[in-house]
Amino acid sequence: MSDVFKTTKQIPIIDIISHYLPDVRLRCAGQTCSGRCPFHDDKNPSFTVWPESGRWKCWSCNIGGDNIALVAKALNLKPLEAARTIARDFNLPAPGAHRPMSPEVQRRSQEVARERALKAAFESKVRELYLTLAMIYRCINMVFNGPDPPPAVAYWVHRLPEIEFLLDELIIRDEVRQVEAVRAARNWGLC
Ligand SMILES: [Zn+2]
Repeated sequence: MSDVFKTTKQIPIIDIISHYLPDVRLRCAGQTCSGRCPFHDDKNPSFTVWPESGRWKCWSCNIGGDNIALVAKALNLKPLEAARTIARDFNLPAPGAHRPMSPEVQRRSQEVARERALKAAFESKVRELYLTLAMIYRCINMVFNGPDPPPAVAYWVHRLPEIEFLLDELIIRDEVRQVEAVRAARNWGLC
């Protein structure tokens, strides 16, 4: 086995996950950690990690392996490229780790970084819109329940069902429905 494979196995799998798959939230109990799988649209925590042995598995995708297999899957790389990528990113002394990336690997890793940035921007947009709508919703309800609602509030009272609908849609972890909700909020002049 080449040295780069050996050295990259020393990095804790948890560190690998937080570096390459920062969206994955793991809950640990006993010897295992679990969370939603980053490789499929996971509603349940199908993704299991064994920190002790450095292994992972998704029970739905039926894939798993070690550090290298995880990075290979996450960045769509061949095992040797994945091992070199880990060695480079974690500053491990490994032959070949500091060789410049091939244009293809470079392109893929830039693509992954770009996708991750877009996803983070969208998630923060959804969060912001949710908080704004929740605040409007609370305020309208407060004024509406008061003894003497000002006439301007009638407009917003009229829109409560729309806002309620959007709040429900935004909280669902379904990107397609969230995109639709953001679009609707925009059309309705709410953001
Ligand atoms: Zn999966």
